[in-house]
Amino acid sequence: MKILSVNAGSSSLKFQMYEMPEEKVLISGVFERIGINDSLYTIKINGEKITKKAELPNHKEAVRILVEELLDNNVIKSLDEIKGIGHRVVQGADKFDKSVLIDDEVVEIISELSSLAPLHNPAAVTGIKAFKEIIPTAQAVAVFDTSFHQTMDKETYLYALPYNWYTDYQVRKYGAHGTSHNYVANRLSEILNKKDCRVIVCHLGNGGSITAVKDGKCVDTSMGFTPNAGVIMGTRCGDIDASIIPYMMKKTNMTYQDIDNAINKQSGFLGISGVSSDSRDIEDGIKQGNERCLLAQHMFIRRVVDYIAKYYVLLNGVDAIAFTAGIGENSIDIRKGIIEKLAVLGIKIDEEKNNVRGKEQLITTSDSSVPVYIIPTDEEVMIARDTYNLIG
Ligand code: AMP
Repeated sequence: MKILSVNAGSSSLKFQMYEMPEEKVLISGVFERIGINDSLYTIKINGEKITKKAELPNHKEAVRILVEELLDNNVIKSLDEIKGIGHRVVQGADKFDKSVLIDDEVVEIISELSSLAPLHNPAAVTGIKAFKEIIPTAQAVAVFDTSFHQTMDKETYLYALPYNWYTDYQVRKYGAHGTSHNYVANRLSEILNKKDCRVIVCHLGNGGSITAVKDGKCVDTSMGFTPNAGVIMGTRCGDIDASIIPYMMKKTNMTYQDIDNAINKQSGFLGISGVSSDSRDIEDGIKQGNERCLLAQHMFIRRVVDYIAKYYVLLNGVDAIAFTAGIGENSIDIRKGIIEKLAVLGIKIDEEKNNVRGKEQLITTSDSSVPVYIIPTDEEVMIARDTYNLIG
């Protein structure tokens, strides 16, 4: 059965088509700069990558071209071979604790939740509508970044703010990257050959979040009401004292938009280093003796270690820890820096094993108290699995 896994951004559309249940990737790619000039798309098929220019005034046109490519490349012979389309949706809030078949009501709720994810949910709705128009025979499924975190208890997800901020304005912790955390926690459970286990998943990419998982369920996660909370990220500040915001607004006459921009786009690695949001540039800066790059990396490592320590206690010890996403899968130095700071827990890095990028691997010694793994994440396959399971 052919299933498409889709991730629609405001000006992009990523896709991956699977033969299910084998989970074989048939074709994948991305449409970029939709609705702006110089639009283009890239497709990967049979190990080959092709980039083409195209007029992409909207997502619907991108989907139309995608269908043409699927037919031209003989991935499908007719449209009705595509049985399901799984859409990544960033914010499902407390309305969705699992993936669901999409109907008009679901679209309406996703749309209503846009105030909690103003950049992402409207894009998902645009993607859902575009596919519905071009491939009306396929059943659509919504897979939410937040649903994995819906198992957190109230003590964990509430902020100690006036209670009506929660009841009237839905202010609470929702978390993010749930599909990735779910995938990696599942994979750890397979590796450990244990259904019930306590694991910490460190999804460290341009955005970063850390999740404590017990018996396959999220008990706490570092991101909060928005993806701004938790560890330091590429351009987001992570946890700060909330009173800094009114203080800076008063001192500098910044508007709330200025503040929003500062804490989401000008902070994190970029804010501290003054150089870049990209951890590779930070590592290059360190090699050139740039002290602020070194400071940014040290701060990042400290915040990640803080969360691991906190979740180690929360879970009453852990069976495994995993690193995933761009930094987690690729940064040898950052993984080393984090694991070395966990020595007090008896966790010991194997430097030779850690010397890899983008590959599933155990990176601790055989006498380490807790095994630590690199697990490359795969959100697309999770979306395809949920879609396949839901459409039966
Ligand atoms: P993601 O958001 O998961 O795509 O991750 C993006 C982050 O991963 C950026 O900060 C990149 O610098 C980082 N990254 C990607 N490749 C590498 C690499 N080879 N070494 C260090 N960091 C990397």
